[in-house]
Amino acid sequence: MAEIEDKAPPARACPICGKPALAKFRPFCSARCADIDLGRWLKGSYVIPGEPLDEADDVPPNPRESGRDH
Ligand SMILES: [Zn+2]
Repeated sequence: MAEIEDKAPPARACPICGKPALAKFRPFCSARCADIDLGRWLKGSYVIPGEPLDEADDVPPNPRESGRDH
């Protein structure tokens, strides 16, 4: 007698792109959108320490202190 909810629930809008979400990726429409949301969540939650690895590629600081130009 009990009706089993085998049907997919009414499609909700994906919070990322606004497309109808799929039950497989709820509440997102695709794995990609889920990944994007995860990335946003991680960015907003975790505070990444500013390591000077990204900026300084392989350039040593200019030795201005030497002042050998004089
Ligand atoms: Zn989406």
